[in-house]
Amino acid sequence: MAEKTIFKRIIDGEIPAKIIYQDDLCLAFHDISPQAPTHVIVIPRKEIPSLAAIADEDAPLLGHLLVVIRDLAKQLQLERGFRVVNNCGPYGGQTVDHLHFHLLGERPMTWPPG
Ligand code: AMP
Repeated sequence: MAEKTIFKRIIDGEIPAKIIYQDDLCLAFHDISPQAPTHVIVIPRKEIPSLAAIADEDAPLLGHLLVVIRDLAKQLQLERGFRVVNNCGPYGGQTVDHLHFHLLGERPMTWPPG
């Protein structure tokens, strides 16, 4: 059996995380290595390796994740704006093979990304 990802271990309560939101479908917690004053990771409880691996029937789940991100941005008072990032695959810079979105805020972002 494939080894659990670090995010699956957080879902299963095997390792601690600073969880700021959870419901039946997803979990949000502070990134362990923040790249901005606010850096939150939002993950589905469902084990989906990456954005490239979502199924058509995951569309409502993906919509839910974005609604949660909207609400978290409000809760975290990111009214000046924020960035939502999904790194997908090796060229996308993905390091944890469990679908996740980064919510980054409280500093101006630059473009293009590195
Ligand atoms: P990515 O590079 O897009 O796959 O993002 C993975 C993110 O997970 C990185 O920003 C890491 O800092 C973060 N991360 C890894 N392990 C943990 C952990 N135990 N708790 C919180 N965030 C983590």
